[in-house]
Amino acid sequence: MIKCDKCDEEFELKVQVTKYHGGIEKSFLKCPCCGERYTVSFTDKGIRAKQYEINKLRDKLSSAEVEDVDSITKQIDVIKNYMRKNILRLRAKFEAK
Ligand SMILES: [Zn+2]
Repeated sequence: MIKCDKCDEEFELKVQVTKYHGGIEKSFLKCPCCGERYTVSFTDKGIRAKQYEINKLRDKLSSAEVEDVDSITKQIDVIKNYMRKNILRLRAKFEAK
């Protein structure tokens, strides 16, 4: 449960997704009481592809040899940074509208 900033009601954490053209998706939470929306994140095809890469790398990590762990962890960090920047860029673009 999370608390709505606007009306102080508590509601269940249920993420909903809105799709835009260009493969962009916005996930958000909506307060059932007052209808206030809270943006969780933005993703596009590129970001979701990166998310998939991270999942694959995490799988790899769980069965990796000790000497490979560092390089895999670094790859994950690089992808995460890329995602963070792009999510912020998407968000800025959409919230400026
Ligand atoms: Zn509310």
